[in-house]
Formats: sequence, structure tokens, C-alpha cells
Amino acid sequence: MRTKPGCSHYDAIIVGARCAGASTAMLLARAGMRVLAFDRRAYGSDTLSTHALMRPAVLQLSRWGLLKRLLDAGTPLITATAFHYGDQEITIPLRASPQLPGLIAPRRTLLDRTLVDAAREAGAEVLHDTVVGDLVSGADARVRGVKMLTSDGTHLTVTADIVIGADGIGSLVAKRCGAQTLRRGQVSAAHLYAYVPIEPESSYRWYFREGVSGSFIPTNDGLACIVASVPTEHFDERFRGSHEDARLAVLRSLSPDLGAQAERAHVDGAIDGGIRVFRGVPGFLRQAYGPGWALVGDAGFFRDPITSHGISDALRDSESLARTILDGSAQAFASYQRERDFIAEQILDATDTIASFDWTLGDIETRHRQFSSVMKAEFEGIVERDMQARRFPRPWWQQRAEALRSA
Ligand SMILES: Cc1cc2nc3c(=O)[nH]c(=O)nc-3n(C[C@H](O)[C@H](O)[C@H](O)COP(=O)(O)OP(=O)(O)OC[C@H]3O[C@@H](n4cnc5c(N)ncnc54)[C@H](O)[C@@H]3O)c2cc1C
Repeated sequence: MRTKPGCSHYDAIIVGARCAGASTAMLLARAGMRVLAFDRRAYGSDTLSTHALMRPAVLQLSRWGLLKRLLDAGTPLITATAFHYGDQEITIPLRASPQLPGLIAPRRTLLDRTLVDAAREAGAEVLHDTVVGDLVSGADARVRGVKMLTSDGTHLTVTADIVIGADGIGSLVAKRCGAQTLRRGQVSAAHLYAYVPIEPESSYRWYFREGVSGSFIPTNDGLACIVASVPTEHFDERFRGSHEDARLAVLRSLSPDLGAQAERAHVDGAIDGGIRVFRGVPGFLRQAYGPGWALVGDAGFFRDPITSHGISDALRDSESLARTILDGSAQAFASYQRERDFIAEQILDATDTIASFDWTLGDIETRHRQFSSVMKAEFEGIVERDMQARRFPRPWWQQRAEALRSA
């Protein structure tokens, strides 16, 4: 495996190689660009995130030809979503189509690796265990490249026409470029999760009672991810002792069955990898681009995980950003930010109405319907990308790659 970049200059350098970074690398490389992506973490490593994919994310993976790989790797197909509002259960079957046979919740160890593999197959260089420590700017303040520390301890500077920050919530690229925060969310929730063995199951289950919520997410290797969520203030006040005891108490209060399932695995010692804890961060929307740089994924837009939408946002915006970079015009960058903000603001607002926990069992369903209608519009926007592609004989990245080759 390569540990150093093969060239000193690239069309695009991407900091962060998970859902946002690896997707953007794949799409730019498919279009014929010379792309270098880095991640400080190892290839195929896990990260602090559950991974219930919503329809927009699954549609993107399907359009990019990656859904089959994830299903072939044993990821269970989710064909229904059950909402438990107190003791009431509402099950909604998913409308299946050949392109979208159902939903999936692949472990990040699988999803991120699959995206990295696809980026490499398209010709991108992706280096893991490699840290970007700083950016390099020209006299005109335009970002020109990065300073990096490779896995074998070598300091290198590599330049590019554009540096993309796909480096998550604490984005170094956003900080160094002074990306402005355009919006801040008002609320945050803590999420505590663990993996337990389950019988095969094809439904996502979301549980709600006043002040608490939970989820049951079937994933790879015969496991489900079981999550307890509470407002961050509640977490700070009442989760000081054992995180696991407090998590189990929340799950039991949501549903005796859910609590028993989580507890049985706990007693049997069958929990895979222990409890993961995310205390919560209020959502934000950052300036999406500037001279020589752009942000994608959580680096530019974060919303509370309670609506399981971050990966959908990352995959949607990575394609918008790839198209923008291929176009290269000032108008294209302005419209990247405009389109992202149009959908992101609605997602942030609709997510915050759920993550606020100021709902009752009488109105939480309405808030879910509002979120669902935002997602429906988003989904239709992605379908429209397909219709545009159908108006031409080949996908846009192939047309672009052919145009570049013949230029
Ligand atoms: C608790 C929790 C639960 C979640 N559950 C869901 C869910 O169920 N469904 C869903 O769709 N979304 C969920 N999300 C959101 C989802 O995890 C994110 O939206 C998604 O990971 C964003 O992808 P990304 O590629 O932008 O950033 P990240 O996944 O954060 O990846 C950024 C990468 O950049 C690398 N990096 C950072 N700085 C540097 C540097 N200087 N040099 C080199 N590499 C660097 C990091 O190592 C990291 O690997 C959840 C999030 C959390 C916190």
C-alpha cells in the first residue's frame, strides 16, 4: 500500500476519506481528475456514528453502483420502519423499486471502506494514517495545498488546484480558511449505543416517550445497533455514573422488549466493542467555499444525529461539489452553496424540532411527518439528477472523462 503521494501537484486534494471525502474523490476521479485524499485514521476503521441510512443515501449508493456490493457483503435489507410512540406502534412498509429495494445500515467499517475502494478503482490516491497539519496559501491568500505527515513520519507539502475539507465536525480546513458559521442549531442530544446479537430482522425501529428516544438498527454480522438518546442537559445531569446503567434505564422505559434485548446482551457479555457515547453538539452550517477551498459533509453542515441524516447529506453534497469543481466557474460554486443551504436549513430546522425533546407523544408524529416531507423533496431532487443523466447516453462523469481524454 502506498504511503506517500505519487505526484507533487493534484487537481484536487481532499482532507478526510469517509462518506463525504471518499465519495467526492470517487466522483472526481471517475471524471478523470487527479485526486489525492487523506485520512488520519486507518483504512476500514470504525468511527463514532450509527449508520441507519435514509432513502437519499441509499439512492446515491445505488446510482453509483455500490449498493449491490454492500448487500453482497451481508448488509441486511430493511423493508419497513416501525415508529413506537409510547405504547402505540405504526409500521410503514418501504416502497421498493429496482434502484431502491429497501434501506440499509452498513457498519462504517464497511461503508467507508467500500467508498474508498471505489475511489481507488476510479484512479484516486487515498492515503490512510496520514495527518494534514496545515494548509499552504499563496501571496493572494488563495489555498494552494497542504502540509502533511505520512504514516512513516515524513513531512511533505503537496499542492492542488483545490483543497476540499471533508474532515468532519472539527474541520481543520474550515478553521484555517476562516469559514464563517452561517447558522447555529439551538439544541443537542446525547446518543449512547452498543451492538448486540439479534435474530434476522428487516425493520428499523424508532422509540419515543416524553424526554427520551431510542433506536434499533439491524446491521452486519447478525448485530443490531441499539441507541438511547436524551437531551444533552439530561445526560450531563443524570448520566454521571455508569453510562451503561443509565442507557439501559432509558431503553427499558421506552420498551420492556428493547430494554431486555439490550440487557441480555450486556449480561451475556455479547456486546461488540462496548458502549459508544456522543454527548451532543448543536447543529451548524458553515460557509461552503472560498478561494482554493471547499467544504463537504459534516465539515460544512452538521445536524443532530437523531434524524439519521448525516450520511445522506454527505453523499448528496459530494456529488454536487464534484459537479461544481468540474464546472469550475464562480457561478457553479455559488450555486453549490445555495443548493446545499436550501436543503440543509430545512433539515437542520426539522431535526432540531425533534432533537429539542420539547414535543409530546401527541405531536412528535407531526414533526416526523414534517421531516419526512423535507426528505421527500430532497429525494426527488436526487431522482432529477438521474433524469438529467438519462437525457444523455452516459452518466455525467463518463461524459466528462471522455471529454477530458479527447481534449
Ligand atoms: C453518534 C452519532 C450517530 C450518527 N448516526 C447516524 C445515522 O444513523 N445515520 C446517518 O446518516 N448519519 C449519522 N450520523 C452522522 C454521520 O456520522 C456523519 O454525518 C458522517 O460521518 C459525516 O461524514 P464525513 O465524511 O463528513 O465526516 P467524518 O465521518 O467525520 O469523517 C471525517 C474524517 O476526516 C478525518 N480527518 C479529520 N481531520 C483530519 C486531518 N487533519 N488529517 C487527516 N484526516 C483528518 C477523520 O479522521 C475522519 O475519518 C451520526 C453521527 C453521530 C456522532
